Amino acid sequence: MNPLRKLVLVCAVVLTASPVWAEDSGRGTRNVILITTDGLRWQDLFRGADELLLNKDNGGVENVAALRAAYWRETPEARREALMPFFWTTIAQKGQIFGNADRNSRAHVTNGHNFSYPGYNELFTGAADPRVDSNDKKPNPNVSVFEWLNLQPAFAGKVAAVGSWDLYPYILNVDRSKLPVNAGWQLIAGPDLGERTVLLNRQMTQTVRDWSNCRNDVFTTEVAFESLHQSTPRVFYVGLGDTDEYAHMGRYDQYLHAAHQVDAFLKNLWEAIQAHPQYKDSTTLIVTTDHGRGDPPKGWRDHGAKVAGSEAIWMAVIGPDTKPLGERSDIPAVTQSQIAATMAHLLGLPEFQTASPQAAAPIADVLKAGSP
Ligand SMILES: [Zn+2]
Repeated sequence: MNPLRKLVLVCAVVLTASPVWAEDSGRGTRNVILITTDGLRWQDLFRGADELLLNKDNGGVENVAALRAAYWRETPEARREALMPFFWTTIAQKGQIFGNADRNSRAHVTNGHNFSYPGYNELFTGAADPRVDSNDKKPNPNVSVFEWLNLQPAFAGKVAAVGSWDLYPYILNVDRSKLPVNAGWQLIAGPDLGERTVLLNRQMTQTVRDWSNCRNDVFTTEVAFESLHQSTPRVFYVGLGDTDEYAHMGRYDQYLHAAHQVDAFLKNLWEAIQAHPQYKDSTTLIVTTDHGRGDPPKGWRDHGAKVAGSEAIWMAVIGPDTKPLGERSDIPAVTQSQIAATMAHLLGLPEFQTASPQAAAPIADVLKAGSP
């Protein structure tokens, strides 16, 4: 067949097929992007900067006046909007946000460990696993929703992940799953790299690294945009790490700046989606964290089974199938384990739960009424 004629036919099939598909399913979501920022406390997300930590003693803050000018306001509503403006305007208006314990909306992990690998395992697979009890570089025995989706014909080769922490290839078991995962200080590989990619690789090679096992998020977010534009995955994961790393260092100023930059990334991502024909009005964003942290004066730096409150997390969903109910209040608790099935349901594949019967049920409130 003449190539032009073939192209015209392919376009015609695609153009006529998609509206039928959308009508049949009653769902608007064709792509899902999951974003995490490691260990960002619900207290800071919902209340904004914490006065008990805006100091040198407890928060390790270098310039208290500058930090207060940036993020301190009189009310929690004004403080959180100063910290995460995209979250508290766009997501709060068009999506749903879970986990504000002050408003009787709780979100928590069920793994009992309250640290990263058990959290990401629960998040990606839909269930806590007692075998996953360390951050050691061991391949995950469990199949994630990403791996499962990549095995479905409609999503084969359309799943990708980019992360700051160098554990993601193990958590997503790349040897078995064959998922493309760029993590840690990994450069972008390929035969024909563009000028922008070459520059990004050079910067990742030459920068002073704050952590050897965790890439600074400024690079991870750029790698994520490269991946999004070049391979246009239908299911995409972006795992950010600065919030956790700076909290462990006891630097509340850097932790808040990191959260602010996560919010800026979400805004850029949302705008890129709305400007892209594959993603516009057909992409659901889910934003969450792997664990919580303790309280001031010192407990906020840490998390784990022995740190009270560090099982508490938060989550947000925005997309064509999620009613704009905003910040949720007075509702039953939701869990980290529900997100995997929520992703599969949004993509029209409730069969994930048959394949992974241990996975928790999806969060019904974020699925369009009538969804399975
Ligand atoms: Zn941590």
